[in-house]
Amino acid sequence: MDAALFQFDNSYTLLPERFYARLPPTPVAGPQLVRLNEPLARHLGLDVERLHSPEGIETLAGNRVPDGAEPLAMAYAGFQFGSWVPQLGDGRAILLGELLDRDGVRCDLQLKGAGRTPFSRMGDGRAVLGPVLREYIVSEAMAALGVPTTRSLAALLTGEQIMRESHLPGAVLVRVAKSHVRVGTFQFFAAQGDPGPLRQLAEYVIDRHYPSSRAAHNSIEALLRAVVRQQARSVASWQLVGFIHGVMNTDNMLLSGETVDYGPCAFMDAYRPDAVFSSIDHGGRYAYENQPGIAQWNLACLAQALVPILDVDRAQAVSLAQSAIDEFQAVFRDAYGQGMGAKLGLVETHDGDVALGSDLLTLLNHEQDDFTLAFRRLADLAAPVTTEEQVVEIFDFSSAYGPWLERWKNRCATDPRSTRERQQSMYAVNPAFIPRNHLVEEVIQASVTKNEFGPFHALVDVLACPFSYRSECVRYAMPPRPDQRVFQTFCGT
Ligand code: AMP
Ligand code: MG
Repeated sequence: MDAALFQFDNSYTLLPERFYARLPPTPVAGPQLVRLNEPLARHLGLDVERLHSPEGIETLAGNRVPDGAEPLAMAYAGFQFGSWVPQLGDGRAILLGELLDRDGVRCDLQLKGAGRTPFSRMGDGRAVLGPVLREYIVSEAMAALGVPTTRSLAALLTGEQIMRESHLPGAVLVRVAKSHVRVGTFQFFAAQGDPGPLRQLAEYVIDRHYPSSRAAHNSIEALLRAVVRQQARSVASWQLVGFIHGVMNTDNMLLSGETVDYGPCAFMDAYRPDAVFSSIDHGGRYAYENQPGIAQWNLACLAQALVPILDVDRAQAVSLAQSAIDEFQAVFRDAYGQGMGAKLGLVETHDGDVALGSDLLTLLNHEQDDFTLAFRRLADLAAPVTTEEQVVEIFDFSSAYGPWLERWKNRCATDPRSTRERQQSMYAVNPAFIPRNHLVEEVIQASVTKNEFGPFHALVDVLACPFSYRSECVRYAMPPRPDQRVFQTFCGT
């Protein structure tokens, strides 16, 4: 007999039944593999060839429950755009099981678009091709950029048509995450007023993600502090690459700190602090500049959910929660400041470096210049380079930047490294390639309307190496022409 396709090692199923609903994915009519993420598959210890076989494809699409899988939909609640929704849960995602990757890290294997579950409410439990490709492209680009994120193992067509604003091709995304426990998972149990499951969930997250919290005098407080710090660093990394999540509801924030739920997300082209792309974000609640504040607000929701188990004395519990939340700003400021220093090519941070960075952003905003290319061009300027390595053919600083560039050069002259070392370090943090909206839209259009997946594969391949500029890939580095600009992104549910 063949060995199992996946070596599942499940832990969430050891939690009580009220944490989830057990059910298999609903089979689909005609599964077809669009893309398998082979490096990720290998990292998970999977047999790539077998995943490409009919058995593998049937399994990834949810038509066949593999040995060792214990499929389930997780229960959770959440604040969506600030409004409380007591019952959300995986309405179209099924957790097949957990695997240990090559580094021994436990990972969830989840099928998104796997059919209805007891949490589907009015939804059909399905996903459509456009948003599945978008999540694949953006999550993998984020991983390559070094941002903590869930990953995409595979995208599949289901062979079914899904009714949305029109009939659209159905698809499944196979998602990998360090876990899918959300702030909303804690809120779900907190709202039920029973501290038992809340404590079980907290213990579970400590064991899985923050085991060093176990040694603390108050392990729940240590857990909360660890999550606050991790999230502050994650959101700082969003800000440093110009990523706008678009739907930072508490059910879309993971305890692991990984970025999740790529719906109406976007990278900005021209720098604009108030940038909003999501079609459903009318008030700009989740605008670029609001992301750190919203993350902290979401963490305050987590802290509030944990109050019943933080201390037997409620006043003391509230005070611990508040102090943990207050840590967010300092950790964010440090992470962002260090990251911005690195983008500017500075190893040490001096007084005035924050102003140097923010003055550049002010100029970019004023000139409406491209965020990504401006930093990349700065790296070009850090030392002499050949033309092929430079983005100068598509971006250069105008005379408006003259005095600022002078200040920057003077500051660099006081930094200890050689110009070549500085440049290399700047190239390593200032990408040339990001998943620009117009490129993402273009490949989705080709896939959905013409069944042409070549452009999708080409884009994913370029974005896998975002930091090495190749002039033959120039069109992927270019900002949109005015007629290519995308003003809105959709969650597509
Ligand atoms: P999202 O906006 O993707 O974070 O989803 C919010 C909630 O709606 C989650 O509980 C999802 O499981 C649920 N949901 C989204 N799309 C669907 C769908 N097509 N069918 C059922 N539930 C869905
Ligand atoms: Mg969600």
